Amino acid sequence: MLFPATLAGSLPKPPWLAETNKLWPQWQAQGEALAEAKRDATLLWLKLQEDAGLDVVGDGEQSRQHFVHGFLEAVDGIDFEHKVEMGIRADRYKAMVPQVVGPLKLKGRVHATEAKLARAHTKRKLKFTLPGPMTIVDTVADRHYGDRVKMAMAFAELLNQEARALEADGVDVVQFDEPAFNVYMKEAAGWGVQALELAAAGLACTTAVHICYGYGIQANIDWKKSLGEQWRQYEQVFPALAKSSIRQVSLECIHSHVPIDLIRLLDGKDVLVGVIDVASNAVETPEQVADTLGRALQYAARERIYACTNCGMAPMPREVAVKKLEALARGAALARQRYG
Ligand code: ZN
Repeated sequence: MLFPATLAGSLPKPPWLAETNKLWPQWQAQGEALAEAKRDATLLWLKLQEDAGLDVVGDGEQSRQHFVHGFLEAVDGIDFEHKVEMGIRADRYKAMVPQVVGPLKLKGRVHATEAKLARAHTKRKLKFTLPGPMTIVDTVADRHYGDRVKMAMAFAELLNQEARALEADGVDVVQFDEPAFNVYMKEAAGWGVQALELAAAGLACTTAVHICYGYGIQANIDWKKSLGEQWRQYEQVFPALAKSSIRQVSLECIHSHVPIDLIRLLDGKDVLVGVIDVASNAVETPEQVADTLGRALQYAARERIYACTNCGMAPMPREVAVKKLEALARGAALARQRYG
């Protein structure tokens, strides 16, 4: 089937699980009540994604407070008690981040509960997201390794352990999220992709990387305004990704200033074309979605194109996210009629 519909990763959390419309929300329960709320929210979103018509679904990251810290909480060697303020993504915004204080080691499984639950409750293809090594390194303070590359490789080994376990749980796609690739382009094309390949080593399931210009939060909207008419950040990292073993690349397209012809540099890869803007609550029409897919078709083979969101939808109102997912699936269906 042409143009399968999927999502970048995160979805809004219901008000009984966590604060709404926030990127770093507080949980609304503790202990077993929280664990149950996470499971319920995961099932809710599986159903809503299926109803919207998505072909590849996910857990909506309902069990993680934040896409990076959800992983870090399962790692030994990190001090969460004494967070420090750090400028992240080349100082685009400040965040309170935990500190790496010793050798890194997984405490156990990170996402076993939600992966097994999701697998048991959907027959659709199942995607699971993990933060990429470079983005993790950019979201923690280092008081142990003293070297970003060394620390990235240490995280990559832990990510690989969890990714292999997710594959064993029956996950069809493991995606690593690397928004930092659009910030540190030179390093991304070098050790960034190397660390990514280490994280994905030995996986037989589909592997993906998501690169974007961030959630629709004000700091990112302001940053985008500073990037000028043409956003060519992808141009520096795509050739390295094209040579890598990663099979799919998810990128931001609609309402961005990314020249769409840059996807030519991803020859041989599946391209997850962002056709849904997550920085605006205006719901796309199926025609807009199909138009964006049509533009991508000029530069990539049709059987390699997926319809996807630009980025995660976590900070969005739930009803807007649902309508956008419906537009995504309807637009992909329209594109199949138009270009099939
Ligand atoms: Zn993103």
